[in-house]
Amino acid sequence: MATGDGSDYFSSYSDLSVHTLMLKDKPRTLAYKEFIDKNKFLFQNKVVLDVGAGSGILSLFCASAGAAMVYAVEASNIVDLCNEIVKCNKMEDKIKVIKGKIEDVELPVEKVDIIVSEWMGFYLLHESMLDSVLFARDKWLSDSGMMIPSHATLYLTPVNMSKYVTENFRFWENAYGYDFSPIQTISMMSTLQQPVIECIEPKQCMSDPEIVHEFDLLTTKVEDLKSIQNNLTFKMTKTGLVHGFAAWFDVYFGSPTVSIPPSVSGQDLPRVHLVTLSTSPMVEATHWKQTIVFIPVSASVDEEDSLSCVLELTQDTSNPRLYNISIEMLDDQSGSEEDEEDEEDVSD
Ligand code: SAH
Repeated sequence: MATGDGSDYFSSYSDLSVHTLMLKDKPRTLAYKEFIDKNKFLFQNKVVLDVGAGSGILSLFCASAGAAMVYAVEASNIVDLCNEIVKCNKMEDKIKVIKGKIEDVELPVEKVDIIVSEWMGFYLLHESMLDSVLFARDKWLSDSGMMIPSHATLYLTPVNMSKYVTENFRFWENAYGYDFSPIQTISMMSTLQQPVIECIEPKQCMSDPEIVHEFDLLTTKVEDLKSIQNNLTFKMTKTGLVHGFAAWFDVYFGSPTVSIPPSVSGQDLPRVHLVTLSTSPMVEATHWKQTIVFIPVSASVDEEDSLSCVLELTQDTSNPRLYNISIEMLDDQSGSEEDEEDEEDVSD
C-alpha cells in the first residue's frame, strides 16, 4: 500500500483505514494466503520474519501453516492492534510481535529461514520499502533462506487516456458556459508533475506491455534500487492517441526460476505451488490500480507503428521514499498531436 511520503511515513501506517484497505484487497491478501496454505511443507518448523507486519495477517498465515516461530516486526502504532489480534487468535506462542524499525530491532535468533513481506507500493517501488526488506534479508536471512514473494516485475505500456482528458482537462474549457482555462492549465501541469493512480481498461492499452525491470529478491541489492533505466520499444496494436504510459507490476511467489532452498529441497518433497499476484489492467483490480505517467504532447500512432522511449526511475535524493519518473520519447516515430481537438477514444 502506498501512502505517506517522508517523515509521516510510519504515522500514515498507524491509520487503521490503510490496513483495512489492504486486508480487503482480496487478490493481494489471497495471493499470500494461497502460497502459504498450499506450500505448508515450506513452513513446517521454520523461523519466519514478517517485515512490516501491520495487522499481523501474514504472520497468522505463516503460523497456521506450521512455522515454529514468526517474528512480526512493525514500526508504526498499528503494532498494538497486531498484538491484540495475535492474542485473539491464541497465537502468542507462535508469533512474537516486535515494535520498531527492522533496521533497529534485535531478534532473539541468529538467522531466520523465511522472510515474508508485503512491501509493494504504486508502480512497485513507491515508498521504497523494498530497501528495508533487502536490509532485513542481508542481516537476518540464512544462506539457504527464502524470500516471499521471491520475484517482481515492473511493466510499462502506452495508453490512451481520452476519457480522463475530457473529464479533467477539457471540462474547464467550457464550465457552465464560462472559460475556466486557468484551472485547465493548473490541472494539466499537476498531471505532468505527478503520476495519476487509476484503474484503466484493457482497451486503453495501445500495445502489449514491455518489461521495465525484473527483480530477484534474493539477489537484488539496495544500490540497484537507486536508479532504474531502460530503453523500451512498443509495437502498437491499435490506432489512436497515446497520452502517456501505464506502469504496473506482478509479484511471484516461488517463481519457476527460483530454486527451492537446499534446507527444504529433496526428492520426497511435494512440488511448490506457484502463485502470481498481478496488478495488470487485464485482471481483477487491486488497491494499487495502475500508475499513469502523462507525456506533455500526445502521440498519434497507427497499428504496427513502433514507439520508443527511455524510462528512468530515480530515487529522490531529498526524500528517498519517492521516485522521480521521467519518460523521454525517442525520435523517428509516429506524428505528435500538440492540439488535441480530435480527442478520440480508442476502438474496442
Ligand atoms: N504485512 C501487512 C502490512 C503491509 S503494509 C499486510 O500485508 O497487511 C507495510 C507495513 O510495513 C506498514 O504497516 C509499515 O508501517 C511497515 N513498515 C514499513 N517499513 C518498515 C520498517 N522499516 N520497519 C518496520 N516496519 C515497517
